[in-house]
Amino acid sequence: MDYFPIFTKIKDRHCLVVGGGDIAVRKVHLLLKAGAAITVCAPEVCESLQQKADNNQLTIIHDVFKDEFIEDKWLVIAATNQREINEHIAKLAEQKQLLVNVVDEPSLCTFIMPSIVDRSPIVVAISSGGKAPVLARLIRERLETLLPMHIARLAKISGEFRHRVKQVITKESLRRRYWEKLFGNGTLASLLQKGQMQKAQDFMEANLTEEIAQGEVALIGAGPGDPSLLTLRALQLMQQADIVLYDRLVSKEILDLVRRDADLMSVGKAAGNHEVEQSRTNQMLVEFAQQGKKVVRLKGGDSFIFGRGGEELEELVEAGVAFQVVPGITAASGCSAYAGIPLTHRDYAQSVTFVTGHRKADGQPLNWKALAIPNQTLVVYMGLLRATDIQSNLLINGRDANTPVALINKGTRHDQQVITGCLSELSQLGGGLEGATLIIVGEVVELASKLAWFEPDNNPKPSRDPFLVNLS
Ligand code: SAH
Repeated sequence: MDYFPIFTKIKDRHCLVVGGGDIAVRKVHLLLKAGAAITVCAPEVCESLQQKADNNQLTIIHDVFKDEFIEDKWLVIAATNQREINEHIAKLAEQKQLLVNVVDEPSLCTFIMPSIVDRSPIVVAISSGGKAPVLARLIRERLETLLPMHIARLAKISGEFRHRVKQVITKESLRRRYWEKLFGNGTLASLLQKGQMQKAQDFMEANLTEEIAQGEVALIGAGPGDPSLLTLRALQLMQQADIVLYDRLVSKEILDLVRRDADLMSVGKAAGNHEVEQSRTNQMLVEFAQQGKKVVRLKGGDSFIFGRGGEELEELVEAGVAFQVVPGITAASGCSAYAGIPLTHRDYAQSVTFVTGHRKADGQPLNWKALAIPNQTLVVYMGLLRATDIQSNLLINGRDANTPVALINKGTRHDQQVITGCLSELSQLGGGLEGATLIIVGEVVELASKLAWFEPDNNPKPSRDPFLVNLS
């Protein structure tokens, strides 16, 4: 971050704008909106500045810039069309440690003025740090259309009601829930849109006495790694969470999208200690929900595919805790898509089977005879350490030794690796790999050489920003 964004109180502070042309007018206009005490200095000023002076909105010094003009100022804007003067002002202001902005000269500025979406008291500021002003403007235009006008009234009325809410609901987490419920409510929005402020206030009061919702758990599949594969629902719930219990498989980029004030807790499975960890996790989910918290249980891929999501939900049902489930993109879908391997294809595979290489000690053995039938795709989760077993079981049961296989390591992430070979080599292929690896066995793997498209080393990252995706 080259510039630190802050919103500063400028009301009645003395600001100097040097220059009397159109650019000065634009800056003055913005400063006035925030109530600054403005002095404009220029030998000649345009009419709109003169009018503002006539209305006592600002003071004009009809003169060229002199050093003493910045004496008692807090902020200076150099908007003349003469570079040397602008540079001189910047240097002087820097010496006196004043905030200075030189129009179109980012290198001389100690502050820059962002693009603004003004729904006061909601104000959104966008800056590209002087790198791409047109892009910043496009983002602003997009936000202008996204943020309805009544959002200003909503923020204002909420400000007035805050104290009352604090009196009635003493617990912070429950207060947040109240506001979330209120802001997500279409009735309030439509009252405000119509300008029916009194009715809106009555509505807020009526909801204040309603019973506040209990805590609940959202079991969310976070997908295989690339954060842009999260569902919108997942993102929404992550943004509302009080606490997030996440698995080791969930990437840092995804955790960065969780509400900033939420507590983050890793409940990654410690090797060899699964059962203890799992039962403690289940217990914590119940406890946090019973404290009235919005709990997010975040798992890699999809929670219902080798994710033990079902087991966690059974505990919640038993404890009477409310929950919802948000599906995620499972590793088989994500990895195969990013490796260019269609799991089924009319010419190569008529079915696909997902199995796990890691089962309970007393679990049912896999039906290798059925899994070895040709023209079907076999996807093995947690199979890397069992590659030798998988290879021999499939070969013994008649799968062709030349059947193509793929190992996809850290699929969909920017360090994804895809290694292909044939079944007779499977046990050798994954030698140097570490971390999550998926094995795909079947004729469809051949298509990877033709359909692979995701080459993280050569391709720029696909844009993750939902606004930017559609900007072009
Ligand atoms: N619930 C998860 C699977 C958890 S089991 C899902 O639906 O995807 C963990 C196994 O999933 C790993 O051992 C690996 O085989 C596979 N896996 C998960 N994410 C992966 C990724 N990004 N790349 C490759 N394999 C992955």
